[in-house]
Formats: sequence, structure tokens, C-alpha cells
Amino acid sequence: MKSSLSSTVAGLLIFLAGAATACTGFAGQHDHFLPVNGTLAMENQIPLNDAGYGVSHFGHGAYMVTDGAYQTLVLVSTAGVVVVDAPPTTGHKLQWAIGNLTSIPVRWFVYSHSHSDHAGGAYLFADNQAHPKVKTIAHENTAAQLVAARDPHRPVPHITFKDRYTLKAGNQTLDLFFPGIGHDLGNIIIYAPKQRILMMVDQIYAGWVPFWNLAASVYVPGWIDAHDRILAYDFDVYLGGHMGGPANRTAVTVQREYVRDLYANCADALNNVDIVPIGTEVLTNNPYNIWAQFAVYLDAVAEVCYNATSAKWLGKLAAQDIFGFSHARTMVSSLRLDYDVLGPNGVQP
Ligand SMILES: [Zn+2]
Repeated sequence: MKSSLSSTVAGLLIFLAGAATACTGFAGQHDHFLPVNGTLAMENQIPLNDAGYGVSHFGHGAYMVTDGAYQTLVLVSTAGVVVVDAPPTTGHKLQWAIGNLTSIPVRWFVYSHSHSDHAGGAYLFADNQAHPKVKTIAHENTAAQLVAARDPHRPVPHITFKDRYTLKAGNQTLDLFFPGIGHDLGNIIIYAPKQRILMMVDQIYAGWVPFWNLAASVYVPGWIDAHDRILAYDFDVYLGGHMGGPANRTAVTVQREYVRDLYANCADALNNVDIVPIGTEVLTNNPYNIWAQFAVYLDAVAEVCYNATSAKWLGKLAAQDIFGFSHARTMVSSLRLDYDVLGPNGVQP
């Protein structure tokens, strides 16, 4: 890879120039994105009705409601309905959808994690904090985040737990488990054993590369480990909270393979891209500017990793061309800071 350094730097400058052009607005750039058709993303779509939502029925009272971009799990029990997440984009349509599924009232609301794009409609269900008809449940870290947020759209939960919590709701059971900090401080695995459904939000993006910067995870090693924690469960249906339809175990193993490739390619790049000629050139042109030197070097490493990863995954998982470089950058950062893969900045002789 050292021999291709000059082409790497030249390619990086072209890439950055392209990125700068893209910053003028996606509206004029959208023809340049690779098509989603033909990728694995097309396997999981479900149609939306005239009201703007779609429903999957998994049997035994379990449903997924989606607006095409976000997902909610609805579990109908003899003692009331359990709702997991209320994305604001689904909003009032979620109440409408549940009302069309059953006349049994909602009695429990579960936060998958704290983020407002999945929980910003929670207040539509958790209406009376003092005398709630609906009990809200979350991991204790999520509760702490919601206390700090003071967001009327995301009420502080009534019930919290540290490691696991089993919700017995009439004839239904929902197992909640905290696998550790990853995407968020309190993102949990939500498991319906009778229906063999596993939900973990912002973890697996079936048929797609993850959302920007490895799902914008607060702790990348925990997010990576969660792939194995999920696969330790016995499940058939996987819900990731995004992208329309339900997925399965294969979606988890495919994304795990992508992340492992990304990890290996970025580690290779860190160990092989030579910082000396890059640093010399940057410092010559920008005397004493250590950050400039480091920024150009790290982007060169990320680009080598991105290109190696794209060789296998471009056109297979959707949006590698859109978020792939952000994943390479984030993985390079995590490898350096979390995994002690420091390349030329490791322990000196
Ligand atoms: Zn999130």
C-alpha cells in the first residue's frame, strides 16, 4: 500500500474536492448516487397504505408498524397493549394504526433507547406522569438521559432496570436485556420469545450499510459486540427500528461480515499507510500545523480502508457510496483509541 501512496493522496484530494462539491446541496447531486435496486436493501420492503403506514403481522398478537423509515413493535396482550418506541415521524399515525389493530388499550410503553428520532412520540402514550394509565419502561441509563433532557416529548420512565427486566403483560412476555454501552448509553435488546422476534434499534440495517459514522454510536466496540449478543438469541424476525420491513438472522450475519471487513481493512490501512511523506508535504506547505498533518494522514488511511471495503460491498449493501467513508473514518478512530491499533503513532522504539 505504501507504493500506492501518491495515488492515494491524489485520490484523496479528488475525493475531498468531490465532497466539497456535494456540500453545495444533495439536490443537484442525487443522480450520482448508486441505485438501491439490485442491493440486499430491496428484500425487506413492505407497502404503505393510504394513511401512510404499513403493518407486518407476526402472529400471537405481535405487529410491526412502520412509516417506511422507522419501526414500532406492538404487542397485544389480554391485559393491554405494549408499544416499543414511538418515532415522531410516525406520530399520530401510530395511535391510528394501533386503534385499527385492536380495541384493547395501551398499558405499557418501552423505550428502546433515548434518541428522540425513535422516542419523540412517547408523550402520545405516556400522558399522565403522576397517575399513569400507561407504564413506561427503560434502561436506567436511558432514564438518566431523559431526566437530563427535560423533553416533554420523552417523559421520564416509571420503571427502570440495570441488567434485565421481564415484562409480563397478560398472556404476553417481553424480555428486556442491556448488553452494554454501544449505539447509545442504554440501548437494549427487546425479545419476544413466543413470537421469536428480536428488536435492537440502530444496530442492524438490513440490506443497507449502517447509518452515518457506524450508527453514530457512542461506543463503537460495544456496538460491534452487539452483533454477537444478538445472534446468541433464538429468533426468526429481527427489527432494527429502520428502513421499513422486518429482517431476519441473515441480515445480522451479513452486517457482521461487513463490519469485520471494515475493521480488518482499516487496521491494514493504519499499519501500512506511511505518515512520513504525507506529514512532510503538509508541514512544508503549512509550517507547524500539526492538526493539518494529522487530518490529511487520517483521511488518507480512511480512504484506503474505504476503497478496500467498497471493492467487496459496493452494490451489495445499499449506500456504501453514501456512508461508507464515514464508517471508515469512524472505524479508524475507534481502532486507534479503543483497540490500540496506532500504526506509526504506537510505542516508539
Ligand atoms: Zn439511536
